[in-house]
Amino acid sequence: SRQFTRPLNDLSNQFNTLLSAVAGADRVFDIIDTEEEAVDENGAEPLQNILGKVEFKDVSFSYEKGGDTVSQLNFQAKPGQTIALVGPTGAGKSTIVNLISRFYEPDQGEILIDGHDSKKITRESLRKQMGFVLQDSFLFQGSIRENIRYGRLDATDEEVENAARAANAHSFIQRLPEGYDTELSQDDAGISQGQKQLLSIARAILADPAILILDEATSSIDTITELKIQEALQYLLKGRTSFIIAHRLNTIKNADQIIVIESGQIIEKGSHESLLEQKGFYHDLYTSQLEKKMLMNS
Ligand code: ATP
Repeated sequence: SRQFTRPLNDLSNQFNTLLSAVAGADRVFDIIDTEEEAVDENGAEPLQNILGKVEFKDVSFSYEKGGDTVSQLNFQAKPGQTIALVGPTGAGKSTIVNLISRFYEPDQGEILIDGHDSKKITRESLRKQMGFVLQDSFLFQGSIRENIRYGRLDATDEEVENAARAANAHSFIQRLPEGYDTELSQDDAGISQGQKQLLSIARAILADPAILILDEATSSIDTITELKIQEALQYLLKGRTSFIIAHRLNTIKNADQIIVIESGQIIEKGSHESLLEQKGFYHDLYTSQLEKKMLMNS
């Protein structure tokens, strides 16, 4: 539905702009007009070597004048934690990741990165340390090797292949007649949706960001590729703070924290076990087959 795709497109469009800024607009498939981003605040400074602590303090935001899209958000992600964002369609999950990625700024409250007000950090330095694995894989016209190398432009061929191995992508790439030199184009060179995801995971592994934004795919993927994706994600998530717009029950259960959002507010947060014990919204969702419901949102 439109309601579902718009916010994701929002992040995607902005992300494409970001990509094109690095790679040259001609290399990215779909460059779509986006709003002008605000400039960095006066005196904003780069922050290097982010550990990945992310804190929301009374954060409220709305896209348009009127009621808040999200309001009074409070949570803390410790470095390395996996945070699953769960909730019905339109609840505000994408908005939260849009705010973490600084595509929008809070109207009220603060977002702290490693204890620093994120407004006082340059966007460029922040985004260099953030990775995105989104439902659309942002593959561009070029070889598979170039597409993976996009994660870190100075990576050697060996590093590209190591990332592909870690992402469970190496074996399918090798089976292609042209291997890593296979050209991706709009007709996709016979690469499946799941394989595209593996490529975008390989790219993120190569980039090695401190903070990862993951919009878990909802498309149905064959069981074997799905297992490969799950395994590759486990590797990718290790050691970095990850925010996942989660649709798979397993991802949600394994998260360090589950944040349940409804109508722009956090209604519950905690581990799978603690939320089940609370016998609240999450418990009800879970016992009424959460996964089915989450997947039905798509
Ligand atoms: P979904 O699971 O469908 O992706 P979500 O939980 O990610 O939903 P958001 O995309 O954050 O929800 O949307 C929260 C609200 O903000 C929705 O009512 C949505 O229509 C609205 N919204 C999202 N993006 C924009 C935008 N760019 N401009 C105006 N309103 C927006």
